[in-house]
Amino acid sequence: MPELPEVETTVRGLERVLDGRRIARVELRRPDLRRPMPEDLGQRLTGSRIIGLRRRAKYGLIDTDRGDTLVFHLGMSGKWRVDPSAIETHDHLLVDTDDGHRVALNDPRRFGSLDLVETDELEAWPPFAALGPEPLAIEARELKARLAGRSAPIKAMLLDQSVIAGLGNIYVCEALHRAHIHPGRAAGSISLKRLERLAEAIRHVLAEAIAAGGSTLRDFASPDGELGYFSKRFAVYDREGASCGCGGTVKRTVQGGRSTFFCPRCQR
Ligand SMILES: [Zn+2]
Repeated sequence: MPELPEVETTVRGLERVLDGRRIARVELRRPDLRRPMPEDLGQRLTGSRIIGLRRRAKYGLIDTDRGDTLVFHLGMSGKWRVDPSAIETHDHLLVDTDDGHRVALNDPRRFGSLDLVETDELEAWPPFAALGPEPLAIEARELKARLAGRSAPIKAMLLDQSVIAGLGNIYVCEALHRAHIHPGRAAGSISLKRLERLAEAIRHVLAEAIAAGGSTLRDFASPDGELGYFSKRFAVYDREGASCGCGGTVKRTVQGGRSTFFCPRCQR
């Protein structure tokens, strides 16, 4: 499942072929993913120029000079393919540029989404309206304010998209481990000093994963042109029974129906 670093890497990979290009042709190959795609998507995009690509939470945003933004979410299995040699069954959208490149949105399980939103209206767009701040820019004071009075476990609060946007299970486990904070600790009880370590850990684990994705995939794309998936070694995630650098042993518990990996020796 693509997490924030994969989305960021995907956006940077797409940027190389799409930024500044005019869209020559659009082919929508089915009407819906997780939800229907706009019927006039092809008409609104064709002939427009792409003026920028960016990310918000786990969404990728492609801005055009017509004041529209194409917003994609990769869901469970989505990926973009750059200059694919052949069209595949699960390529649901094809975009051709004026300089002869093609990108294809491929999503076998179709939990992803594709929307066209007026750029000026993005902040108020329902999926974005309640989103918290970006984790790559999170500051301890902001975390402190958002967690004040909350007795829920810190892990659950970090997965809450209105507290902080786009952090998934893997990076929450990794950041809490790096900050030496126990995942079950009541969120509102954590001192500002410890939240400073947590904010730094969140920024760093994500930045390292993005760097790993960018350096292990040649030009951000695998040899077959696929963007967005790379494997990275984690300190605790999916490592039950492994030894932690502190001499402790990584444990797995279940919180809110999801696996939590942590070291009971160095996370308090
Ligand atoms: Zn440890």
